[in-house]
Order: sequence, then structure tokens, then C-alpha cells
Amino acid sequence: MKVAVISDIHGNRHALEAVLDAIANSGAAEVWCLGDLVGYGADPDACVKLARARSALCLAGNHDLAVTGELALDEFSAAAGAAARWTRQVIAADSLAFLSGLRPAGERSGVGLYHASPRDPVWEYVLSVLLADLCLDSQPERVCLVGHSHVALSFVRHPGELTTGEARGADDHLGLATGEWLINPGSVGQPRDGDARAAWLLLDTDAATATFQRTDYDIAGAAAAIRAAHLPDSLAERLQYGQ
Ligand code: ZN
Repeated sequence: MKVAVISDIHGNRHALEAVLDAIANSGAAEVWCLGDLVGYGADPDACVKLARARSALCLAGNHDLAVTGELALDEFSAAAGAAARWTRQVIAADSLAFLSGLRPAGERSGVGLYHASPRDPVWEYVLSVLLADLCLDSQPERVCLVGHSHVALSFVRHPGELTTGEARGADDHLGLATGEWLINPGSVGQPRDGDARAAWLLLDTDAATATFQRTDYDIAGAAAAIRAAHLPDSLAERLQYGQ
């Protein structure tokens, strides 16, 4: 089965719509969403509605849990806290009810799914080989997917070898038949790896392969929506740099 993996949408409707169009042409039978549907961007309800309609499985991210009130806002940066407060004010009751029912960890087709990490599904940023090694020690599934850092990357540990990790760009292809893996598709709505295009991953569970994807979207439209909502300007500015 081909699966499209999306994460960290962050209220960016422009990016999510472009990615879902690309997914519709990808042959993917399912969409798995690793969380952070809201926060930062100007269209939380549209993103919740689309993710809810299209995802076979959807996790909660730390920003979703901030909006539902499960996490305190003092754990967030100033801009993230301001965006979470704004989202709480504007979000529709049925969107909030959907987010309240999500959990930050799950499993599907034998693949482990975590918003942040297998050790800490809500908060841990897995950006180093050292942390990835500890995660691989603790994860029950051989192949796990995480979001949260907004950086497309993969870590692998083959039997008898040390863990290695690499940032991943468009069309990078992984063979997952052997080894223990921790893979981040990157962020749909706020990429932070220097490529401003929306990031996602196409996984093939039968062939045991994965291919990193980038999709162009209307960045100016997303930035204009953030400014029109009077959210912090930095949240609009960073989109064009993918930072
Ligand atoms: Zn995020």
C-alpha cells in the first residue's frame, strides 16, 4: 500500500491544499497525519477539516494540545504562544472537538507513528544521531515516523553498525527492507530546512521504500493570510525562506 505521510501543517491552508492535490496524483491509498494541524498559520479550521476528511490516521501535536488546553502556553515561544491564543479565539467548536480526541502516538500497518519522538511523543526534537540512537533503542516498531522538528530527515541503524542520519531533499529515496529507521517527512505548513516548498513523504509499505516529496504552493497567499489575521509578522516572513 502506498501511503502519503504529512505533518506540521500549522494552519497553512495554501500548503495543505497543494500537497493534497499532489497526493491525489501520487497513487497513495491512505494519508497519515503526524499532527500539528494548527498553530502559526491563519486557517486552522480549513486545515482541520481537510486533514480530518483525508487522513486514515491523525495524531495530535504539541500545538494542537496547546489549543485544546491540554498543554500550558508558557512552554511555547512568544510567537507560538501568540498564535495558539489567537487560534483558541477563532477555532470552531467542531474543530476543537476533533483535536481534543487525538493522541500524539499511534501505529498503523506495523509502522510506529509519533508526533515528536518514540521516547516523548509530544516534545522531543530528534535532530541528532545521539537522540535518534536512544529513540531506536526504545521504539517497538522497526520503522517509525516522526514530525515536530520541521526538518525532512532519516536515521538508520543496520545490524552491527552505528546509527547514521541525513537531512533529506526532494526525491531522496530510501530502501527500508532492513535496519531500524526513524524518518521525518518534514513540514507541510512551515518547512525549516531551507527549502520553502511544502514537504511530505510517500511510503510504500509493500515495497518497503519511501520517497521524500516537495510541493510548490502559494507562499505569498499564506503569508498574506497570516498578516491579515494580525499574527506575528515573523510567522509570515519565515515561510518564503523555509526557516
Ligand atoms: Zn510543528
